[in-house]
Amino acid sequence: AKEQGDGLYHFYDSLIENQLAENMQLENDLKSALHGGQFTLYYQPKIDASSGGIIGAEALIRWMHPDFGVVSPAKFIPLAENSGVILDIDEWVLREACRQNKAWQDQGLAKFPVAVNISARHFYQSNLLPMITRILEETGLAPQYLVLEITEGTLIRNVEYGVRVMEDLRKMGIHISMDDFGTGYSSLSQLDRLPINEMKLDRSFIQGLMEDSKKSSIVRAVIELGHHMDLRVVAEGIESPDELKYLANLECDQFQGYFFSRPLPSGEFSAFVRHWDGS
Ligand code: C2E
Ligand code: CA
Ligand code: CA
Ligand code: CA
Repeated sequence: AKEQGDGLYHFYDSLIENQLAENMQLENDLKSALHGGQFTLYYQPKIDASSGGIIGAEALIRWMHPDFGVVSPAKFIPLAENSGVILDIDEWVLREACRQNKAWQDQGLAKFPVAVNISARHFYQSNLLPMITRILEETGLAPQYLVLEITEGTLIRNVEYGVRVMEDLRKMGIHISMDDFGTGYSSLSQLDRLPINEMKLDRSFIQGLMEDSKKSSIVRAVIELGHHMDLRVVAEGIESPDELKYLANLECDQFQGYFFSRPLPSGEFSAFVRHWDGS
């Protein structure tokens, strides 16, 4: 039994070693990926519950790795956060999303805000506001067409400071969305102090919603709470017409998910917007 145990141990050990080696390579490759033009943004539509129209897009990064193919941001964003490369990546994402949204507007596409995910680490950089101001100036995008998505966890580090940054962003005319709502350290106790415009219900609450009465109670309560605080509530990860119907009945304000569209490359996204009739 001992030998068998050892064998298993070595097996797991080498799995972990491989994982570590792969992560180290990815972390190393991240540095050249930006200059090598290996990143690209995909866009996923946000749908308005009452009109059925497209009222926004979330920009989601993709890494086209020369050896590994497409690497998921769920995998490389944490690595980028470790190494600090995230600051350059976030800046690139912001600039590219703003540039693209302005280009769509110039092409005569209906105007909507683009939402960008900002990592916790970046949120506490003192140059965040000047950087965003500069990017808006450079790209010519009006601030009301930019939304920043931050997660609850971002605020753990320093709520006071976080609230001030959010207030400054709001003064600039930028909207703020609380992403993955309900999964992090409770922002519930802080919610009344947070100058946010929107909360996004995490996909984990949407999955299996109808079969799970506890989940549906939570979702119902969160939507009510959000409305009580004059926030719009967005459900992410909607995959089926039943989920959509259910959330529409709960008066959720906006929807996002594969049911409407997967995240798309920019050209496919603008074609999608042109052909969407909302019914
Ligand atoms: P997130 O911000 O919560 O983004 C939503 C994720 O759910 C995206 O995964 C999206 O593709 C996926 N999704 C949307 N609808 C559905 C659905 O109906 N079903 C399922 N199963 N999934 C759906 P993605 O693009 O892989 O991104 C994962 C996470 O990586 C994001 O979670 C976000 O935290 C981070 N991320 C993505 N892009 C960026 C970025 O540009 N900058 C930063 N800092 N983080 C990013
Ligand atoms: Ca997000
Ligand atoms: Ca989310
Ligand atoms: Ca998420």
